[in-house]
Amino acid sequence: MSLLQQLLALHRADVQVRSLRSRLSQADRYLATQQKQLDDVLAQRGDVETQRRQLQAQVANMEMEGKAIGERIERLRADLNQSGNTKQYTAILQEMKVIEVQRDELDTQALAQMERVEQLNKRLADFDTVLTERSRLCDAAKAESAERHRDTADRLSELERERAAAAAGVPATAMTLFDEVADLHEGEALSEVQVISARHREYACSACSTEIPFGVYTRLLGEGGAVVQCTSCRRILHLPAETEATAAKKR
Ligand SMILES: [Zn+2]
Repeated sequence: MSLLQQLLALHRADVQVRSLRSRLSQADRYLATQQKQLDDVLAQRGDVETQRRQLQAQVANMEMEGKAIGERIERLRADLNQSGNTKQYTAILQEMKVIEVQRDELDTQALAQMERVEQLNKRLADFDTVLTERSRLCDAAKAESAERHRDTADRLSELERERAAAAAGVPATAMTLFDEVADLHEGEALSEVQVISARHREYACSACSTEIPFGVYTRLLGEGGAVVQCTSCRRILHLPAETEATAAKKR
């Protein structure tokens, strides 16, 4: 088997390995995206939850403060009933008024904070709805990815063995070149020489349409296995199967 034939065999296995791997990484990327979106919503929900906890703590403090003020007013009211003279009575009444204003302000503040807690409760409920949907999508992506890995594991290792077997006889320099060009063109390391006009000796790279000099064509015909790259796209050139078969008989 000529080097070019070995490269063609390698190419056939390589293309399939790459295609399977790309299907797997596609599923993995989709899963990672879903997981990230779920995590983002969880983090946002966590922030709102923290805000709610802080507000609830503030409301609880206000309630305690309100209770203390209420008790103080009760005590002042008892003092008021027992006050001995007008001066004392007026002083207590004055103090009560000041404290009652404080209590009203506190009540107003507490009410506003409770309204904010309610708003946060609504936002948390909205987050929960989104989270249910996001979790469902994430679970589906996990299952899909696991299924793809399971389904392709055997086929992939089989193809990888085929690829390794095809690569075994290829010299290191040709192998490096093959991998470089394959990476450059998503696995398309080889390109067939297209005969535009045999009479006018016009040939082109079938992948990128760049003209192939007649000299290159005759080299491929004559040597059988010469590794020649397209000057434009760098793909390794090979003859059409029929032309190669005819040429091989003459060599
Ligand atoms: Zn080309």
